[in-house]
Amino acid sequence: MALKKDSNSLSSEQEKSQNEDSSQIEFKNSDNKKEIESQLLQVSKGDHNKNGFLDFGFNQSILNSLINKGYKNPTPIQKAAIPELMLGRDLLGQAQTGTGKTAAFALPLIEKLTDNKELNAKVLVMTPTRELATQVAESFKSYSSETSNFKTVAIYGGTDYRNQISALKRKVDVVVGTPGRIMDHIRQGTFKIKDINCLVLDEADEMLNMGFLEDIEWIIDQLPEKKQMVLFSATMPTEIRNIAKKYLNDPAEILIKSVKKETQLISQKFLYVQRHHKLDALKRILELNKEGVIIFVRTKLLTTSIAEALENSGHTVAVLNGDIPQNQRENTVDRLKKGFIDILVATDVAARGLDVERIKLVVNYDFPFDKETYTHRIGRTGRAGRSGEAILFVNQREKHFLRNLENSTRTKIEEINIPSNKIINEKRMEKLIDNVNESSLAKDENEENKALIIDVLDNLKEKYSMDDSNIAMAAINLVIGNKSFFLNDDDSWINKQNNTDRNRSNRNSNNRVRNSNRRNNYQNDSFETYKFNFGKFDGVRVANIISSICNSTNINGRSIGKIQIFNDYSLVDLPRDLHRETKNKLKKIKVRN
Ligand code: AMP
Repeated sequence: MALKKDSNSLSSEQEKSQNEDSSQIEFKNSDNKKEIESQLLQVSKGDHNKNGFLDFGFNQSILNSLINKGYKNPTPIQKAAIPELMLGRDLLGQAQTGTGKTAAFALPLIEKLTDNKELNAKVLVMTPTRELATQVAESFKSYSSETSNFKTVAIYGGTDYRNQISALKRKVDVVVGTPGRIMDHIRQGTFKIKDINCLVLDEADEMLNMGFLEDIEWIIDQLPEKKQMVLFSATMPTEIRNIAKKYLNDPAEILIKSVKKETQLISQKFLYVQRHHKLDALKRILELNKEGVIIFVRTKLLTTSIAEALENSGHTVAVLNGDIPQNQRENTVDRLKKGFIDILVATDVAARGLDVERIKLVVNYDFPFDKETYTHRIGRTGRAGRSGEAILFVNQREKHFLRNLENSTRTKIEEINIPSNKIINEKRMEKLIDNVNESSLAKDENEENKALIIDVLDNLKEKYSMDDSNIAMAAINLVIGNKSFFLNDDDSWINKQNNTDRNRSNRNSNNRVRNSNRRNNYQNDSFETYKFNFGKFDGVRVANIISSICNSTNINGRSIGKIQIFNDYSLVDLPRDLHRETKNKLKKIKVRN
């Protein structure tokens, strides 16, 4: 699972031990400082079977912060990356969030800056989203909590410049930010970059997907030439390899194949559902999983309409999309963490990097654009070693995307049925019985209430001559309320749909082979149609259009949809919600010169 291209290559034995270690990671904070301290000491005294953090040569203040965090053993990526970074080497790492990669780069950088007295920042970390920027900055802060006068500043869009400017004016060691805001501060001269000697690109593939390539290159060009470069990416497409080739100097390469490992804890399922039944199917799924759910949809508009519909069904819901101001987003994530909200309806970009242990279920309400999006989405559950579930909604036209997804992620996604009335009613019944039972246990805890209940019981018996069973029935009736307890909507569509879909699926599998067209990777409503002023009269062919778009923008060929060429214009379906920069580039596209 770990590979390096040079003499530092890990042997299969080491790989094996890293795999094993990763399952030993303890994620709970421990307040028992002494116990951990003595464990660290044991490791340092030569118990080499356990590779504690002491082996890296970190100073005491960093070790103390690790004690505070309760980290006992480094994760595989930490074992592989920390020694390289301590030596000052460039590093190219393939790893996802959840593997401990933040500490892998943060700890050696904090170590290097421990006695830094200078004013200007020395390290810049670039992340694709505000959420990740906040998270990474928080991690730096906690790993440096015992290091005196160590300052980390986060700069990202959607928030006021003033606080960021005044933070940048004071002593700063590390700046973590998103490309747009970093550029703004560099241009305004409010972020002094002349002393930056290390640049970390975190989730580089995401930055590319979001159209930040040009911005990243601009920023790199502004920074001092001599610097350590660290690039982390969950996937390694050619574009990332190219960046690495261009900017990294003989990097150590580390691959943590965590996709499989991480998703092992996530049980991946799909269900067939026609578009007009999706909301009903979702509500039925939520009957069985009420808490810690994140629902991914394609558009901002859909986040709000679904959230409203779910709220009307009695759920506590919030939305996370690009229109929500930053402070409100942070508040939403916080409320989700604390359990004030049970369900989050989000777009992909808004939920990137979201790390909430409480999420037990990810619903892919709309089919993801590509396998990377799918992996990122389902990675919101199964965090910190917990298990999770992911359910993918698939309609008739998405069958072949499902197969593509299974092939490309090398995972079998298990089919489940939409819960019928029978299943839901059984669940409601079970829940009611549990609630009554729990309430009978809980009532003993409150003496005042207990006295009240006995009083009510005596009154009912005396005044209305009710016996125990009558009273119990009346009380349960009260809990149920006026609404009908059992779901009795027509659910005949569920079975019909499953059967037809499966039959069609079989019939289509033959066509699928013939139709193995790259543009089938996406579904139609994921696209917007763009009109270009060139057509048949200009001698343009489909291949010309695809290569021009791919060469001039960061749009991947696989994500281009239908292309229609008319005499003097062409219509091209491209993914919705392209980044502004990408749209600008599209305006300037030339085909066959
Ligand atoms: P990351 O991949 O950096 O987002 O980290 C994922 C989670 O693992 C975070 O909650 C970290 O606090 C936690 N973590 C990172 N390194 C360790 C470690 N060595 N031991 C225990 N937990 C860790």
